[in-house]
Amino acid sequence: VVKSSIRLQKNGSLLVSTNPSVDSSRPRTQAAALLDEPLKHNEYINADGDRVIGILTLLQHVNYAVVLERNYDDLFAKLLDLRNLALKLVLILVAIMGFTAWLITRGILRPLEALKKSAEDVAAGNMEIKLPVTSHDELGIATMAFNQMVEQLRHNREELEQLTVTDSLTGLASRTKIIDTIEDHIERYHRFGLPFSLLMIDVDFFKKINDKHGHLAGDAALTRLGKLFTELIRSIDMAARYGGEEFLILLEGTESNDAVTTAERIRSVIENSETDYNGKKIRFTISIGVSQVSSPEQDIDGLVQLADEAMYKAKKSGRNRTVAAEKIRPKIVSYRDRQVEK
Ligand code: GH3
Ligand code: MG
Ligand code: MG
Repeated sequence: VVKSSIRLQKNGSLLVSTNPSVDSSRPRTQAAALLDEPLKHNEYINADGDRVIGILTLLQHVNYAVVLERNYDDLFAKLLDLRNLALKLVLILVAIMGFTAWLITRGILRPLEALKKSAEDVAAGNMEIKLPVTSHDELGIATMAFNQMVEQLRHNREELEQLTVTDSLTGLASRTKIIDTIEDHIERYHRFGLPFSLLMIDVDFFKKINDKHGHLAGDAALTRLGKLFTELIRSIDMAARYGGEEFLILLEGTESNDAVTTAERIRSVIENSETDYNGKKIRFTISIGVSQVSSPEQDIDGLVQLADEAMYKAKKSGRNRTVAAEKIRPKIVSYRDRQVEK
């Protein structure tokens, strides 16, 4: 669209213009300058003082020239608008890309951070960890694998812990477990004066059972013994396999006299029961030594040793009996006459 076209005389003065506001009497020297480079776009200030872009075409046969002028700002307004729009678009694109990058980074970094922290927790021994699986991508798969690994580790640790606290043959507490428990009880005795007693139990002539019926029959007898102990003590007490055919029972809140009564009850039940092994009936007896925590200076070694010594006294005085440890002389309880020897 040509807004203004000017016809010039050769000396540069205006003949006629499409712009009604143009004063045709005024010389158009600036436009005449276009004569030097016809057909080329030139930027100049026209006679009205407007910044314009003009192009001049000579009409040789009539000795006139036609000048097409276009206001500079009008011409470039669209271009500027376009440039501003392009700039805005670029800015919006950069913002969108930045936000997307932030979202992606957050989506990756957060789970990674959680995985890293959980791995540190697991390394520190905390197995009670289960990370939420929020996606099905590689991170989700890695999180699931991590959860499975922790679950497996927890399971293995529980199994290991179970192995250290349980005797595999009899299912009773292990030696380690009962030693820990006795130490706790000694501590409680020192603090609150809560009494407890120990029963050291040894199977009489156990070697003969092995020799006569075989080692597996011996094992069966030990397993049966474990079951009977569990049935005969209270849930607050603890029975443990202390060594080969030796057992230790902790009687909670029990003084020596009551412990002897319990020991006798256990001894009597064992004496009167039999173990069935492949149709063979195996009978055996046990000897029991009893010790009671009685002085603040007493430690676990002293207490177990007292029960052990009392048990050997029971062996020496004929087996199948209970002997309570005393500081000066042991008190012997015979199953035959139920007499307390002084
Ligand atoms: P005592 O009345 O003096 O205690 O005689 P004993 O034969 O019971 O004592 P001894 O210490 O001579 O023998 C204990 C036997 O217990 C020897 C060992 O082979 C057996 N024994 C130890 N642990 C196990 C076990 O787990 N299974 C079996 N079958 N036998 C065991
Ligand atoms: Mg023994
Ligand atoms: Mg024995």
